Amino acid sequence: PSSVLAKGVRKQYPGPRGVQALQGVDAEIGAGRFVSILGPSGCGKSTLLRCIAGLEDISEGTLTVGGRAVDGPPDGVGIVFQHHALLDWRSIRDNILLPIEFAGKRVADYTAKVEHLLRMTGLQDFADSYPRELSGGMRQRAAICRALVDDPPLLLMDEPFGALDALTRDQMNAELQRIWMETRNTVVFVTHGIAEAVFLGDEVLVFSPRPGRVAHRFVVDLPRP
Ligand code: ADP
Ligand code: ADP
Repeated sequence: PSSVLAKGVRKQYPGPRGVQALQGVDAEIGAGRFVSILGPSGCGKSTLLRCIAGLEDISEGTLTVGGRAVDGPPDGVGIVFQHHALLDWRSIRDNILLPIEFAGKRVADYTAKVEHLLRMTGLQDFADSYPRELSGGMRQRAAICRALVDDPPLLLMDEPFGALDALTRDQMNAELQRIWMETRNTVVFVTHGIAEAVFLGDEVLVFSPRPGRVAHRFVVDLPRP
């Protein structure tokens, strides 16, 4: 698993009305930890995640993943956004296999893994369907399968279950916890839900509304299954 270290991270969006979304974020996410990030809308949670993912440049400070400065999208990072980003022209199975293809690995070696993920998320009958044939929640679950297929040492999730109904959400939470127990890869999980943050995380970072900064950090000491 990869660690994440942020020191004095600032992010100024470009343009005349560019917001300073991060105003000196300090955070240390240990390898193998499950860290939840809580905070009101607009406090910079998604920005921090996109910076960790190398999808945005930081303006100031240092940000490292696995001890290396983030410089463009790194290998070994799985990402799930609030709104899935599946490719419409590929079946669900072929969408899930994208990271395997990108990594130049043999797709045939992942048949069993993909079946396992599909079953786990209740999509076993939809492997050959196309994204437009599935409901929003099902597409989101497919995006989660895709993020997990290559066992990323760092999994970044930005309100991944926000669009799901309460029951599916509870199921996905339980599955995510089970996967994390199994793999012990590092997870950074952005959510609005305090209960979810505490249930899943073994550590919670709370952003202050203004400026975009980590205001509190606490360790959750709950018995785990
Ligand atoms: P959160 O995820 O906590 O809701 P965001 O990171 O999305 O917060 O946003 C933090 C601030 O940065 C907000 O004021 C938002 O309007 C601004 N912001 C987010 N993305 C962009 C962007 N691509 N360009 C300009 N401003 C942005
Ligand atoms: P939503 O996100 O739209 O609320 P869910 O993802 O929770 O919907 O889907 C609820 C259930 O409805 C699914 O588990 C599935 O059994 C069924 N379903 C939804 N869309 C389809 C579809 N296109 N074909 C077959 N079953 C579907």
